[in-house]
Amino acid sequence: MKQNENKIVVAIDGPAGAGKTTVSKLVAKKLGFVHVDTGAMYRAVTYKLLNSDISLDDIEAIKKTLETLDIDFKLEDDELKVLVDKKDVSKEIRSEYVSANVNFVAAIPEVRQKLRELQRLIGMKYNCVMEGRDITTAVFPETKFKFYLDAPVEERALRRYNELVEKGDKVTFEEVKSAIIRRDELDRTRGINPLRIDENAIVINTFGLTQQQVADKIVEYVKSMSNI
Ligand code: C5P
Repeated sequence: MKQNENKIVVAIDGPAGAGKTTVSKLVAKKLGFVHVDTGAMYRAVTYKLLNSDISLDDIEAIKKTLETLDIDFKLEDDELKVLVDKKDVSKEIRSEYVSANVNFVAAIPEVRQKLRELQRLIGMKYNCVMEGRDITTAVFPETKFKFYLDAPVEERALRRYNELVEKGDKVTFEEVKSAIIRRDELDRTRGINPLRIDENAIVINTFGLTQQQVADKIVEYVKSMSNI
């Protein structure tokens, strides 16, 4: 399946807490593109499995669930809402329970194949900014616009910690940092489509930059390389 020549996919990968979601939203807004948070898709599948009494090693039952998977996104007040079986689960998919299990679900080949198909369909249909772990390497390897956002782990953990505290979660900085280190390790070492830097990706170290500055860099590059 080749990417539709008329559509542009800006692919953004990177580890947890590098600022991908905020930056992707800003870039999408500026360019008038759709923002696609693929992490939210993996979280949505995880949420669904955790709530359906299916054991995460029962591949046959998981395959069945995937056949009737109903995930949808809806933009509301500039926020992307995630719907599973028509129910808004945007809050639930960010819970610690989902975060602690999402890596295992994301390592299941059938889940990756299904979500990759869905992501390809979206990228064929809309100009979009798609963020995740394998967008530059496996989902849209043919796009001209590949970015990898990174920052030192202390900085990424601090960013995530501040977000959680703002939401009212009771967590310590050390807990958040070790969860991020563990999640990165699992994402980098999984057998299928692990997190890695694509050879054609532009690497941006977001340390010391505001998210607006990072977004501006990406927008500038995309504009300079296309006729939008
Ligand atoms: O981006 P976020 O932290 O919400 O992603 C949650 C998890 O989903 C990641 O830790 C990773 O295991 C998985 N993921 C993935 N491939 C993507 C996006 C997310 O494996 N393209």
